[in-house]
Amino acid sequence: MFLNKKTPRSVVTRLSLGYAFICLLFCTAVFAVVSIRIKIAADRRIDKTLAAELREFSDIYEKQGRQGLHEEFKREAESNGAKALFCLLVSPDNHIAVSSDLSVWKNLKNELLRIAEPEPGRMAFETLYPQDEDMNTRAAAVRTSDGSLLIFGINLQSETHSYEKIQRILIAGSLAALLLSTLSVWLIARHAMSGVRRVTRAVADIRKESLNRQVPQGNEGREINELADAFNQMLRRISTLVRELKEISDNVAHDLRSPITRMRGAAETTLTGPQELDAYREMGLTIIEESDRLTGMINTMLEIAQSESGVLEISRGPVDLTALLKNAVELFQPVAEEKRIHLSAELPETPLTVSGDKNRLQRVAANLLDNAIKYTPSGGTVRLSCRAVPDGAEVEIRDTGIGIAPEELPQIFDRFYRSEKSRSSCGNGLGLSLAQSIIQLHGGWIAAESRPGEGSAFNLFLPRSGR
Ligand code: ADP
Repeated sequence: MFLNKKTPRSVVTRLSLGYAFICLLFCTAVFAVVSIRIKIAADRRIDKTLAAELREFSDIYEKQGRQGLHEEFKREAESNGAKALFCLLVSPDNHIAVSSDLSVWKNLKNELLRIAEPEPGRMAFETLYPQDEDMNTRAAAVRTSDGSLLIFGINLQSETHSYEKIQRILIAGSLAALLLSTLSVWLIARHAMSGVRRVTRAVADIRKESLNRQVPQGNEGREINELADAFNQMLRRISTLVRELKEISDNVAHDLRSPITRMRGAAETTLTGPQELDAYREMGLTIIEESDRLTGMINTMLEIAQSESGVLEISRGPVDLTALLKNAVELFQPVAEEKRIHLSAELPETPLTVSGDKNRLQRVAANLLDNAIKYTPSGGTVRLSCRAVPDGAEVEIRDTGIGIAPEELPQIFDRFYRSEKSRSSCGNGLGLSLAQSIIQLHGGWIAAESRPGEGSAFNLFLPRSGR
């Protein structure tokens, strides 16, 4: 009952105790109602008997007078026993004129004479409680035509005994029902909870190394299987996250190692080579270049992480998307020309304004154009188009490049993901991931479709008012 607050009672105990309490209330209510009804029925039956007997005595008195009544009283007392009943006739001057054997009713004699006065032509009923409990009595009285009072009483002892017996049976029955039903609830709850315990044990057994294990399904009920399913889904998500985390750290390690190796190589070559100023200058330039690349990569990683965790603050202002895209295309025109790629833009005549962070949106456009040019062989085309839609703007960058294999398409927005075919070209696999997180921060979406060997199309939507 007084358990430590930190260790709450088990669900099985709570259910069983709760049920036992409800059952106890119910049994008590049933017991009270049944007892009262039995008592009322018994009282009615006794009053009926008293009334019938009194009517009979009245008839005898009217027809045969005191003598006839005396014999009738005697007969009644003999056949039922002097202790079981009493009958008497009280004359109008308040004296007992005729009576059955009243020797055992001494204690009641005075009370009998004070019995309630019946209304004319009606009977009065009264229960008398003398000190001796065995003599509790239900009595009825009626006035005869000559003004005498006929009284008839029945000892309630046997009635009380049978009533008490019924009460004992009812109490025993209620207790048995209470115990049995509480036990059944306890067993049922224990069985139902066995599923929860099984799932708990299975989950507790799962370690980092065994994250791909599954909580087995059982036959304890649908809810338990749903719980096992939910755990399995969570395990799959955790397993994916752990795998992604590992891949990311592997990629980070790899991508950080390359520029550091290049810087070390440059420094080593310079130091071991002829000690010329130009060589040192070249080494300085290489180190600056590689450091910039490293810093850029680290900043991009931080930006993606901040954006995904929702802490990245972006400025929100009106951005003319038409102008922004036009500038981006102009910026990439020389690169495209150098690679003999036809870069074209199809932009609205009028400014198309969205709310957002101009610099970050420029980076998205630059990343997508850079990719399109990078992954399109010479002679291909890259086309950028933009159009207004009811609640914002849609941008498409379509190329006739190498395309992306269908199985790789779902992963291109993952951090550090680079397809097999693109490993030869420069890049770190962060561009699309950053683009996606920036667009999502603006309340938009980005999607890609592609056919290997035919080209790719990147579509993005930016809402007019942002989030
Ligand atoms: P990267 O630095 O490798 O370009 P991104 O995140 O920008 O990194 O792109 C991820 C990968 O998606 C690329 O390595 C490439 O395999 C694929 N990809 C992106 N854009 C294109 C495109 N226009 N055509 C073909 N493949 C693309």
